[in-house]
Amino acid sequence: ACVGQHQLPHASPEAIGDAIARGDTGPRALPAPQANALTQLQRLLAGALTGDAVIAELKAANLRGLGGAGFPAWRKWDTVRAQPGVRYGVVNIDEGEVGTFKDWHVLTTGAPQVLEGLLIAAEVVGLSHVWLYLRDEYHDARALLEREIASLRPRLQALAERFPGYRAPAIELRRGAGAYVCGEESALIESIEGKRGLPRLKPPIVAHHGVFGRPTLAHNLETLWWVPLLLAQGGATWAAQGRRGRHGLRRFSVSGRVKRPGVHLAPAGITLRELIDEFAGGMAEGHTLHAFLPGGASGGILPASLADVPLDFDTLAEHGAFVGSMAVVVLGQHDRARDAALNLMRFFEHESCGQCTPCRAGTGQLVRLMQSPAWDGERMDELSAVMREASICGLGQAAPNPVDSVRRFFPDEVGP
Ligand code: SF4
Repeated sequence: ACVGQHQLPHASPEAIGDAIARGDTGPRALPAPQANALTQLQRLLAGALTGDAVIAELKAANLRGLGGAGFPAWRKWDTVRAQPGVRYGVVNIDEGEVGTFKDWHVLTTGAPQVLEGLLIAAEVVGLSHVWLYLRDEYHDARALLEREIASLRPRLQALAERFPGYRAPAIELRRGAGAYVCGEESALIESIEGKRGLPRLKPPIVAHHGVFGRPTLAHNLETLWWVPLLLAQGGATWAAQGRRGRHGLRRFSVSGRVKRPGVHLAPAGITLRELIDEFAGGMAEGHTLHAFLPGGASGGILPASLADVPLDFDTLAEHGAFVGSMAVVVLGQHDRARDAALNLMRFFEHESCGQCTPCRAGTGQLVRLMQSPAWDGERMDELSAVMREASICGLGQAAPNPVDSVRRFFPDEVGP
């Protein structure tokens, strides 16, 4: 079924779920945009749905965290709600991954549904305060989100009167300040607390020790967007839409040498070739596939020969790559993988928070080594090993991925 994207309008989760189940999300097939009725939240408050049932649906759907890590959502909810005392929530909208723009799309087409997912999470997990952390470059989206939060308040007041005992969480919008590393959840939490956004050493994990030391449920906004929809549809039904045994649907940010770049809603487990042919209109005129980035800056660079490998969490590990937040960048025969890798390493050097030496110094040294026509593989191996082993967060740990990919798959480009 073609669930071609850029077409999902601002309809209710139930209507969108029905349309996706029909395999048709074309503009004419969907009902007119309408205000979100908070139907699934109301089912929960009325007792038609229990917290355990919600978590069971997340499990049946195998909904994974869509910010990049792919951690099972139900396990996060279960872990945080088992913690004693005050619990908090964080919605990560600090979208800064190279090639990723699907969060902007979710926000501008589905903010009410994200907020309903958040309210459901708050009710099931018992969150008293939630922070939405928004990338500040998204000015228009901020205005939209502020309006949505304001319009929610009287409706939540009405729900509190209708369901005595219901206490909606306090909802606060925080603006990021442009640091890529603040997309890392512990750095984001430091920033919410008013400090510099420096990633924390783990353990403890944020589910145990998050905002102001309290157990915290941290989610990317797209993960929450799916919650009301898969409750309406049923977790197993949603899961069945994947291909090759993978579960559900994903938003892919597709850019580069394709005819129709953009956000494409496609089945989990789709291959790059299928994504390009079925959703992105094929390769751009005059370009043939040479290489692709399956997962933004840190997900590695793969050759055209791997275009038939399923794109999903855990499927690319044997090739030293991962999908992360599903940012696919397509390179043609006129592009060189080594140029892309150098560009990415400059980005990492610029965005390193500088807290730990392997990342702060290693990214800069790799940039210098990559500028040489023939790469010094031995020196690069040493640096990569230290960065992977001794960096505090994923930025430094994954920064060597593009270098390793180019050396492994494109040796002709980097000399003897
Ligand atoms: Fe900062 Fe890099 Fe260390 Fe992460 S790995 S804490 S970005 S210096």
